[in-house]
Amino acid sequence: LSAEEFRRLGHRVVDWVADYWARLESFPVRAAVAPGEVMAKLPAHPPEEGLDGEAGWEAVFRDLEEVVLPGVTHWQSPSFFAYFPSNASGPAVLGELLSAGLGVQGMLWSTSPAATELETRVLDWLAELMALPASFRSDSGTGGGVIQGTASEAVLVAMVAARDRVRRVLGRDAEWVAYTSTQTHSSVLKAALISGVARDVADSVHLRQLDTDAGYALCPDALERAIREDLAAGRQPFFVCASLGTTSSGAMDPVRSVVEVLGRTGFTASGGWVHVDAAWAGSALVCPEFRALGEGLEGVDSFAFNPHKWLLTNFDCNVFYTRERQALLNALSVMPEYLRNAASASGKVVDYRDWQVPLGRRFRALKLWLVLRHYGARGLRAYLREHVRQAELFAGWVEADARFELAVPRSLSLVCFRLKPLPGEASSDTDARNRHLLERLNASGKAFLTHTVLPGVDGAPSRYVLRLAIGATRTEERHVRAVWEQLGALALS
Ligand code: PLP
Repeated sequence: LSAEEFRRLGHRVVDWVADYWARLESFPVRAAVAPGEVMAKLPAHPPEEGLDGEAGWEAVFRDLEEVVLPGVTHWQSPSFFAYFPSNASGPAVLGELLSAGLGVQGMLWSTSPAATELETRVLDWLAELMALPASFRSDSGTGGGVIQGTASEAVLVAMVAARDRVRRVLGRDAEWVAYTSTQTHSSVLKAALISGVARDVADSVHLRQLDTDAGYALCPDALERAIREDLAAGRQPFFVCASLGTTSSGAMDPVRSVVEVLGRTGFTASGGWVHVDAAWAGSALVCPEFRALGEGLEGVDSFAFNPHKWLLTNFDCNVFYTRERQALLNALSVMPEYLRNAASASGKVVDYRDWQVPLGRRFRALKLWLVLRHYGARGLRAYLREHVRQAELFAGWVEADARFELAVPRSLSLVCFRLKPLPGEASSDTDARNRHLLERLNASGKAFLTHTVLPGVDGAPSRYVLRLAIGATRTEERHVRAVWEQLGALALS
């Protein structure tokens, strides 16, 4: 493309995205295509000839409408309440475009100093905005933040750094054991598999997924017992992942008590590492009234959350803070000849490649920078508070309706609820009615929710539960009200 053609097509693409956002409410929220339907509309072989200049792009715009859009689940729809949100915003998308346009690969400070230094500065801003411990900031001299692609990469990096640190403290290898709760995100199991800590998905010796308390939070007593058992059996506890905002129900693990247990058991003295995964809920720390969630973070080794979930920054953008950046370097630094350069050798610069799994890295800080500048702290707080307010409203409607109940107390903007059991009804039948309700709601295309199964506590059966996760950029009270009314109507039929 010539510069002028790129300019004209670029304007059209931005127009297309702006129009897409304006028409979001006209699409069924969940893609209604059968497996293979999108592929069947695409040629089986790559084009031999390129497009016929700018005019040829008409076919691309047509395909976007006819091939791509029908197969898209509209995560940006204001009636998307499934999983956790993955929110995009104008400033973030423009930042993404700038990043692509600059085409920078910022693996080393020297391969684009601005990519590294903007990232460091923006992550220090964010640490300040969230009142995170000073030890996580780059100016602590020992800690700092880095943008990873996903929370899964963050926990893998933390686990590998943890094992390396304990190995150095002990001066030997060991039979490693990591701890989570049954409610911890599956990315920790994946990290254990990738790092070789767990032999397979069923390896409950090396990754202990502990039963929770009745609120689905990690139980410090159970953690203490498990660590002592493992030490007595000659195994080496080295890593704990606590969650702020579990995926199923938004439970908050008691970070401060976890840290205390770890101090008592010798875990900390042997170099053991606590990571806090706050993938979704972490963004809430931008609001002072939710900061109690972060109690005890000054005692943890790393903390990660996803602005790509609930801080207006499009996928992918995970922010990972550690108070000991040297531990990442110890575990992950490799220096082949072809990367050697004077800046790295001077020791005066940060090379973020040593803080992550891949070598190469995109200039993701641009989108976060634009989000923080565009909305400011005040705008971000207002955005988060509005979602929490909407969830409070919804939870109130659930509680006031005799047919429904909250499955657990609301957590920030996540409401887990279900149709109540009928008198004498078997739990499997209650589950089936809830599953049926969810299927009909999602098939309507008017909204999209997903489910979870919460384990039974104290001998009670497990429960199939609907999750309303509010967090799409354009969700207003009217959308939440509409989905509630629809649920009510479907529950009657
Ligand atoms: N941790 C928690 C608590 C999550 O809810 C999720 C995803 O929803 C993840 C980790 C994984 O996130 P990512 O896709 O960034 O790896």
